Amino acid sequence: MERKIQYVIVSLLCSFFFTPAVLADDRLNAPLLIRVGAYENKPKIFTDESGNVVGLFADILNHISKEEGWQLEYVHGSWSQCLKRLEENEIDLMVDVAYSEKRAQKYHFTNVTVLINWAIVYAGTNQKIESLIDLNGKRIAVMKASIHTEGVEGIKSLAKNFDINCRFVEVESYQEVFERISRGEVEAGVVNRIYGSLFSQAYNVRETSIIFNPRHLRFALPKSAALSPLLSKRLDHHLSELKKEPASIYNKALYIYLSGLPRELIYSEPETERAGKRVILSSEEAAWIRDHPVIRIGVDPEFAPFEYITSDGSYDGIASDYIAILNERLGLHMQLAVTRGWKDAVSKAKTREIDVLPCVGITRQRTGFLKFSKPYINFYRVIITRTDNPFLTGLEDLENMNVAVQADTSHEGYLQDNTNIAPLLYDTLQEGLLALSNEQADAFVGNLTSSTYWIRKLNLTNLKVAAPVSQETQNLHFAVRDDWPVLVGILNKGLSSISEQEEIEIRKKWINIEYKPGISRRAFWRYTFQIGGVVLVVFAVIMFWNYRLKHEIHKRIQIEKELFEANQNLRALDRLKSMFIASMSHELRTPLNSIIGFTGVILQGMTGPLNDKQHDHLSRVYNSAKHLLNLITDVIDISKIEAGRIEIFRQEVNLAELVDEAVITIQPQLRDKKLTLQTSVSGELVMHTDKKRLLQCIINYLSNAVKYTESGTIAITARQIDDRVEILVSDTGIGISQEDQTRLFDAFERLDSHLRVKEGGTGLGLYLTRKLATEILGGEVLVRSREGRGSTFGLLLPIGADTAASH
Ligand code: ADP
Repeated sequence: MERKIQYVIVSLLCSFFFTPAVLADDRLNAPLLIRVGAYENKPKIFTDESGNVVGLFADILNHISKEEGWQLEYVHGSWSQCLKRLEENEIDLMVDVAYSEKRAQKYHFTNVTVLINWAIVYAGTNQKIESLIDLNGKRIAVMKASIHTEGVEGIKSLAKNFDINCRFVEVESYQEVFERISRGEVEAGVVNRIYGSLFSQAYNVRETSIIFNPRHLRFALPKSAALSPLLSKRLDHHLSELKKEPASIYNKALYIYLSGLPRELIYSEPETERAGKRVILSSEEAAWIRDHPVIRIGVDPEFAPFEYITSDGSYDGIASDYIAILNERLGLHMQLAVTRGWKDAVSKAKTREIDVLPCVGITRQRTGFLKFSKPYINFYRVIITRTDNPFLTGLEDLENMNVAVQADTSHEGYLQDNTNIAPLLYDTLQEGLLALSNEQADAFVGNLTSSTYWIRKLNLTNLKVAAPVSQETQNLHFAVRDDWPVLVGILNKGLSSISEQEEIEIRKKWINIEYKPGISRRAFWRYTFQIGGVVLVVFAVIMFWNYRLKHEIHKRIQIEKELFEANQNLRALDRLKSMFIASMSHELRTPLNSIIGFTGVILQGMTGPLNDKQHDHLSRVYNSAKHLLNLITDVIDISKIEAGRIEIFRQEVNLAELVDEAVITIQPQLRDKKLTLQTSVSGELVMHTDKKRLLQCIINYLSNAVKYTESGTIAITARQIDDRVEILVSDTGIGISQEDQTRLFDAFERLDSHLRVKEGGTGLGLYLTRKLATEILGGEVLVRSREGRGSTFGLLLPIGADTAASH
């Protein structure tokens, strides 16, 4: 009764204000209660565990109503009950109603389509079913009373119109359709595209290019309600806006529901932080870490703020913060080893009593026994002189001078490599500076940050920073004993995982604060006496320098902040790009599949005879569309991997059976080219991995082998090597030059050859294979080839659950 009154009032208001002016900004007068028919049809609309109505359509509607200030009341019922209520004006709205002209006579539809749904034929993975004609003589599971089974454009009438003789096995649900296909009780089955895309992988069934019966799903409203035109106008307005915006709730919901990802993701902000922390280790790296429970590090006890030993003997400084993160993230145990100072640490690194020097520059000498990670800290190398020294412009002015430098540092190496200077060597940085201050040397070369720190600390007021050594910054790296190259790779991966924000935090912590490194008692008294002799003449110069330094640091922090923000925006955009590509590509498959399906039908002469020209032209359409479909399918896979959204389904895989399955797929091309095929895979070889993705990799290699081989043999071998499996696909084809082999696995790389045009290709196959093999299957790809002699492409993958990448 109350509702009726509300309707009367709203109708009156509507007719009263129904003028163009109102239409221009026709937000409905809120708050308005809207009753919505709710039924169970996952993932489009369904009730979650807490009783909320959610789903692709419901989430979009909930969002729109929040924007409009509407209040929604979901009225639960079955699909047919809901439709009946709509017809009788008992509810105001139904989501997910397929538009048809017949229905449009009964209901008021929105103009904008929310989603197009259609039926797809799925088949067993070993079935060669590509066009309608291939269904001849097959058993096909279909859902009872479904519009895709019985409707005018359903599979039954389609089969009848094309004279296809198949047996329909009627079942109760889409789930049963897939179960029957995967048990091999039927060769194929029909489901709607949404169910198909969500569950085909779990049942290991294959999508064919046979699609039919596209339906525009829209919102439907009661025909007679006064509210309907206005309500549907607002819905249309929101829908078209939401569709345009790639990051809108509409596009996110579409992507997430159609890929079967958790619903919460729709509402989560891009997690750039977490993404930054992902470290994917190869199984070799993981095994290396297991085999090396402790890594001994040798440090410079007096290299503040980069690294130093505090008065209570613990390790501190910028490098120690990096080590803490790397230890935690990589599962390493880098531990401080006992040394007698920096020189001792370096010589112990030479004899491998120490494994890692965590904070060093690269010098020629050091490369003789160490390998370096990428840089993670940089600094300026500068020349320090006494204030009474003449003006200097650079290293050139130091020839014939006594130049002090700390022994075994990158500065010593730098002078050796770039000048003829024979420097005076000091064990510690402080000793070098004191020598300069005491006029035992004319200049000192060291790094700006720690030198100015010690000048201030030791109050060496007769010293000044005279000139930079070069405009470039010098870098600090982790140095690893050179028989441990694997550790360098691991450290690099760990360093890349450290986000900009974390780096900024570390720097903020160490710049502009007082460090309290311990100095030995002896050194303390020695310094104290020496410092006592030094006068405070040029204190102002250092103050000035400090001021400049602070200013510079402030500027750098500001720039770093801006960079960080820009980077974050870029990452968010990148994720959106991947999401957008994935959902757009999904939509592109619709028209393409129908082009392929129907040109296939026409080409086979089922709709009447074709003359040669027509046949030729149509074949081009058919081949181009297939090419485009392959491209889109690859792009979808790549963008899913890049967005970190590909799900991994591990199961027992008998390798011999899987290879047979791959061979069946490329059999027609093999036969056309008259190539022979040899397989050598032990029937016992069982892996625990993602079957579909492994199959995809093998098929990619195999079809390349067939494409790029004109005569001879293609061989597939697989063998177990420890806890890994090596799968090799060899051919006797055109081969690949040494130089080209390096860029083979990059995106869109197609090499020049006489087969390039003849053999179609996207240049994405190997790129995708590498991504799948490394990022999904946790292994690696290999290639060996000689030009004109043939190629061998390989996969080296972990055999079991323990070693496969699960991050
Ligand atoms: P495409 O779709 O072009 O085959 P791929 O990424 O699969 O793209 O391969 C990239 C390029 O690598 C190919 O264009 C081809 O030049 C070369 N290639 C791949 N496999 C072989 C092979 N077995 N023998 C010779 N060249 C090959």
